[in-house]
Amino acid sequence: MSSLLTRDEYQALARTLALPANAVIGGKSTPAIGGGTFETINPATGEVLAKIASCRKEDVDLAVEKARRAFDTGGWSRSHPSERKRVIRRLARLMEKHAHELAVLETLESGKPIYDVETIDIPEAIHCLEWHAEATDKIYGQTSPSGDNVVSTIVRQPLGVVACVLPWNFPILMLAWKLGPALSTGNSVIVKPAEQTNMTALRIAELAHEAGIPEGVLQIVTGPGEVTGKELGLHPDIDMVAFTGSTEIGRKFLEYSAKSNLKRIVLECGGKNPCIVLDDAECLDVVAQHATQAVFWNMGENCSSNSRLIVHKNIKDKLLEQILVKLRDWPLGDPLDPGNRLGAIVSKEQFDKIMGYISKGKSEGAKIVAGGNAQAFGKGYFIEPTIFDNVTAGMTIAREEIFGPVLSIISVANADEAVRVANDTSYGLAASIFTANGGRAQRMARDIRAGTVTINCYGEGDVTTPFGGFKLSGFGGRDKSLHAHDQYTELKTVWTDISDPKQTQTLD
Ligand code: NAD
Repeated sequence: MSSLLTRDEYQALARTLALPANAVIGGKSTPAIGGGTFETINPATGEVLAKIASCRKEDVDLAVEKARRAFDTGGWSRSHPSERKRVIRRLARLMEKHAHELAVLETLESGKPIYDVETIDIPEAIHCLEWHAEATDKIYGQTSPSGDNVVSTIVRQPLGVVACVLPWNFPILMLAWKLGPALSTGNSVIVKPAEQTNMTALRIAELAHEAGIPEGVLQIVTGPGEVTGKELGLHPDIDMVAFTGSTEIGRKFLEYSAKSNLKRIVLECGGKNPCIVLDDAECLDVVAQHATQAVFWNMGENCSSNSRLIVHKNIKDKLLEQILVKLRDWPLGDPLDPGNRLGAIVSKEQFDKIMGYISKGKSEGAKIVAGGNAQAFGKGYFIEPTIFDNVTAGMTIAREEIFGPVLSIISVANADEAVRVANDTSYGLAASIFTANGGRAQRMARDIRAGTVTINCYGEGDVTTPFGGFKLSGFGGRDKSLHAHDQYTELKTVWTDISDPKQTQTLD
């Protein structure tokens, strides 16, 4: 990890950096064929940062054509696995070298605190790419137990052309989660970043070419979801879409697939994740630290945000007291200041949505115990970390994904009720349990319907563990771990009859 710069140094870098605005197609930085652009905004100031290429059907068609050609010629798809490993590792090294520049681009467009981008997002993205790169030449095929007269191999082959459609909340990290396994298995990849956050994907694609990625193997098409994203979803020559975003748009990709070529669809969607704290939980100050990190990290714009704190009524007041103490560790302000842990909300639209939920919480009778207000720093979109007490399971703020810095506290009487409330959601991405009773923690983990359950901590596992959701939180696969490699490949059986023809009986 590179060391942090000062606020002045980050701001100086922000003033001098070249802001990438063109799509990357066929190995080249290129405007949209029709010349269209859209504005990208700095949510910390409300100012326009750049005009980004707005790709339409003709741009997507061109990118797919280049991707298919690259795949068929085999320069990447059939290259030696150790060669793919070398190139992806070189990309990781270049990202490390350009970490400050990438961090500034990410923060300018997303409003994320640069402290997080430098200390979490970029190091984890680099580690993710390296991990998948290392796996490239360590995964074996299988043979089947089909008897002496047969050699049957079961191999995994790259799918072909894979589109990755990304959200705005972790632009670099979500890119790495998809690129690592998709590239290492030999696919040609077309990325569509969210329209709010394009620049780091564009810059990383440039670095990938510097690292030796062949033309057509990694391309970036920028543009509005309902145009560029839809064209990718409906394209007849794309073999898979790996999507991270809302459940609403995830459903659309299943429709696009059904209407086009039955391309494989993997969805990582939203969450309304519970953090359960029982009355035997140890060290409530440590629990409070995890609980605040779980909901306020990335301003709550996090699919695995533990936005529901389900706590035993006997310890609720004590825990809340500790959480209010921990809130002092979450200064809000200029995201380019590495002293801040909370930055700007990504857009006016998201800001309005969150403020709407805060009003709804108040009108439905929940009690604000912290925050609840917008903060004016110039024309940026800032919201105080907000805590609601006396929330009941039926309230809107307890049911819908807010995707903002808003915690809802729900009191329960015992562990069974806690699990019931935790499962009373249409989502199932993640959950945390705090209790000193190890056996009970394991039983609860078994009973909670979520893709990742953490015990006595908050987290998402690491690159070695699969990440994805039950119910409306996901479909068709997982990010991270070797399971991710599987989903970017197709299984093939090659069956060879090796019986000796001389000994084969002919039937009359
Ligand atoms: P979103 O669904 O609005 O957009 C995601 C992507 O889909 C963007 O690239 C967007 O341009 C594209 N898109 C939008 N409309 C489209 C359409 N009609 N057709 C095709 N593509 C379209 O999501 P978002 O607001 O960018 O991200 C927030 C959501 O992402 C939250 O629900 C969050 O929980 C989820 N998320 C999930 C994970 C996970 O791993 N499970 C991780 C991060 C974010």
